[in-house]
Amino acid sequence: MRPLLILLALSLLTACGDDTTTIRQTRYMMGTLVEFTVYGVARDRAETAIRAAAAEMRRVAALFTVHEMSPIVRFNQGKSRLPAEASRLLAVAEDIRRKSDTAFHPALGALNRLWGFSDGRTASDPLPTASATRALRPPAECLQHTQKQWQLRDPRCRIDLGGIAKGYAIDRGIAVLRQHHIANAIINAGGDMRIIGRHGQRKWRIGIRHPRKAGDVVATLDLAGDVSVVTSGDYERFVLVGGKRYHHILDPATGQPADRAMSATVIANSATLADGWSTALFVLGPEGLARLHALGMEGMVVDRYGAIHETAGMRRLHAREQARGR
Ligand code: AMP
Ligand code: MG
Repeated sequence: MRPLLILLALSLLTACGDDTTTIRQTRYMMGTLVEFTVYGVARDRAETAIRAAAAEMRRVAALFTVHEMSPIVRFNQGKSRLPAEASRLLAVAEDIRRKSDTAFHPALGALNRLWGFSDGRTASDPLPTASATRALRPPAECLQHTQKQWQLRDPRCRIDLGGIAKGYAIDRGIAVLRQHHIANAIINAGGDMRIIGRHGQRKWRIGIRHPRKAGDVVATLDLAGDVSVVTSGDYERFVLVGGKRYHHILDPATGQPADRAMSATVIANSATLADGWSTALFVLGPEGLARLHALGMEGMVVDRYGAIHETAGMRRLHAREQARGR
């Protein structure tokens, strides 16, 4: 009799938890608002877990920043080796570079510095000249890995993991939440997110931001399990000069801001991959979707004219009301 009673009590507890406990906290880090949502555990447990996850994400941000002194900056200056954790992320980034035909380039730091979008460029700052940008275009083969060490092969090559580090930080944050036995949660860093579990009986519902209409979405998705969704957009950091938009995602082939998309969204099974590939897909434009699909990911591109292109798998994830309206 007793086991049955305990079982009954347990299922009642879970049922009560279903609509009572959604803990939401927001912290500013990595230049954006990061929102932690935890479902189904007591407030103090959720808050302890969120505090630990946020601390881990700040540690990762400090490791990969190029805006202040960091192991990456010291490596670029030839002053030290890359720490093991940075070496591992660089290997993932280099793999994405190869598979994206160098649309994603983890060593375009010198070019990125010249454009200055990560350093607060304003519309009145003079734009870099065509010859200056051409001169700093990095060769595809910037990096070599010998004797367990990464080395830069050319003075135009400087590591910049800004296109993938935020995703990695989100993955680390989720790992810490799981260490705290959190099974249902979202970490959302300014629209880039990883979700785990469910929101009680329901899936998690998330929106993909419209690249031109603030507050509007191009799609609403219902997601559950373990899914990462990351969007790269030309609205994040940009200036308008003479009516033309110059933004922070650079085409390594031209040295100029990439011009095939307004936004690119990737769904993958880690935020690291979703982040790296969303930057790659932005540069590749709609033609990158086939490649993404072949690699087992889903994607959506809002092209330079505002038209939406997406993989069939992405279309299937649209929330039902949305799908009927399309
Ligand atoms: P995201 O917002 O994830 O698309 O990343 C943009 C950031 O990645 C920029 O601020 C640069 O630091 C870096 N970046 C820009 N263009 C590229 C590129 N083609 N490949 C890799 N990283 C890039
Ligand atoms: Mg990215």
